[in-house]
Amino acid sequence: MEIRHHGIAVSPGVAIGPAFVIHTEGVRITHQTVSPEHIPCEINRLHKALEEAATEARENRLRITALHGAAIGNIFAAQGSIFEDPGFRNQTETLIRTQCFSAEYAVSRVMREFVRRLEESALKSVAEQHKAEVRRRAKDFIDIERQILLLLQGENSEPLGELTEPVIILAADLMPSETADFSPRTVHAFATESGGGTSHTAILAGALEIPAVVGLGRFLSDVSGGDTVIVDGEEGILIIDPDEATIARYEEKRAAERSRADRYDSLRDKTSTTSDGTPIRLLGNIELAQEASHCLERGAEGVGLYRTEFLYLNKTSDPTEEEHFDAYRSVVQTLGPTRPVVIRTLDLGADKFSSMSDVVGVEKNPFLGLRSVRLCLRKLDLFKTQLRAILRVAVLGNVKVMFPMISTVDELRQCKALLNEVKEDLEDAGIPFKRDLSVGTMIEVPSAALVADILAREVDFFSIGTNDLIQYTLAADRNNENVAHLYNPTDPAVLRLIKRVVEAADKEQIEVNVCGEMSGEPLYAPLLVGLGLRQLSVTPRKVPEIKRVIRQLRVDEAKRLAEYALNMDTARHVGSYLRDQLRRILPEVAD
Ligand code: PEP
Ligand code: MG
Repeated sequence: MEIRHHGIAVSPGVAIGPAFVIHTEGVRITHQTVSPEHIPCEINRLHKALEEAATEARENRLRITALHGAAIGNIFAAQGSIFEDPGFRNQTETLIRTQCFSAEYAVSRVMREFVRRLEESALKSVAEQHKAEVRRRAKDFIDIERQILLLLQGENSEPLGELTEPVIILAADLMPSETADFSPRTVHAFATESGGGTSHTAILAGALEIPAVVGLGRFLSDVSGGDTVIVDGEEGILIIDPDEATIARYEEKRAAERSRADRYDSLRDKTSTTSDGTPIRLLGNIELAQEASHCLERGAEGVGLYRTEFLYLNKTSDPTEEEHFDAYRSVVQTLGPTRPVVIRTLDLGADKFSSMSDVVGVEKNPFLGLRSVRLCLRKLDLFKTQLRAILRVAVLGNVKVMFPMISTVDELRQCKALLNEVKEDLEDAGIPFKRDLSVGTMIEVPSAALVADILAREVDFFSIGTNDLIQYTLAADRNNENVAHLYNPTDPAVLRLIKRVVEAADKEQIEVNVCGEMSGEPLYAPLLVGLGLRQLSVTPRKVPEIKRVIRQLRVDEAKRLAEYALNMDTARHVGSYLRDQLRRILPEVAD
């Protein structure tokens, strides 16, 4: 029966395909069903795997009991009793015989049913101790399922990095480094139980252009590997076992998306100018050097944010100066000599590759800890290595440097002083570099927004990072689905801070850009233009849609809209007002 789960939409697109459940399988259930003549063979495989599992459990019990005593050894006794349980064996066999399920799929279905019942019982229980005990048992069943599946698949297990056929990945959570290994060719979408809309896993999904939904809450007990699922990355929906009518509807939606993408292609070479002639520069946000070409394909005028910390993906040591340089050079060469490329210095820590740094250690509040530029200012060698590479590559194009997470004026001054030191080193060594490199700062901490008037006198440009600015202003973790209702770009507090930053930039006549995810949402484009923004940096895929809204917009009308929104009391009111306005300006995009 069709089951729907609602979560946070993080990367648009519709995908329909077989589920690959990560944390239990680690291997893929390649065949859901077998032909009737293969049923005896499947039952044999099942028996063999259960016998092997029971033997392993007995051996483990003896070994662990000798090492750690009977209490711990008995965990394996409990597992062993499942492998030998006639009830479990009969239920699984019945599914193979009556439904022609493969042994793997039948085991998974039976186990998932056990887990689902246990989770239901945990939810109903009021006693915390009982709840914890039931959850522990549910986890044991997941472990048992995994053990049997691994035995069944033996040599045929298919590691995630080597998938050959398309799947939809379902997981409790995914790290950015795991997501980065996904190939859009085989991973057609993913969905996770936890996670927030602007997490770095979500941002990577956008970069790889893989439809994704996160923060769905518990759903893994409802699904087995190989089940057909639908991920709707636009609406934030996961559908397990969709019926035929639902599949047909989503196939239509997928076709409509493709034709919309084709239409947007025609916008690529059109200017990004409001209907009354004001240019609004659209730039791309990238994480990986190869995305530079996505910016050009989608008609962006340059790179407004290059998140260089992604150079740490799947690396076990700090990148060398040459590795930094090579990655930057590849982006600059793709963009050519005049298009801007804003290289942001390393924003490591918090949820981004924090395990990479020996300095960070374990922090209670990593998002308020040694993150980003704070970490760089502690690890000067690391920082200087990157700054050298940026100064050197800047002679090849229109490169700018930008510091993330600046929270005080002193911090910015320290970064600039270090940049000058590096310039002197390069000078002394006779290495070519760009002396008058343009320097900017991100405004993504409320303290920086509040002293934007002072910061504006120190830099050539601002870039407002709304992802962090929203989380720090509202004290709502950007990765935590439990507080996602507070994490709102339309909160009056956020709008006031953006207005303040734009005014400070205008007063000092420096450029100001918005590069958080907010700038890539058509809903907010009229508001941002009305607040005075003349540059937006967005996920490349979003460029055509935002351009479409801009070309439909008049600046005086956007200003009136922003003034009106600024006078509203709540995020909810601003949000619904903006939806009404977008429906008026460009109904097709709003709907
Ligand atoms: C932001 O905080 O808005 C931003 C662009 O930086 P990141 O998402 O990389 O933290
Ligand atoms: Mg940020």
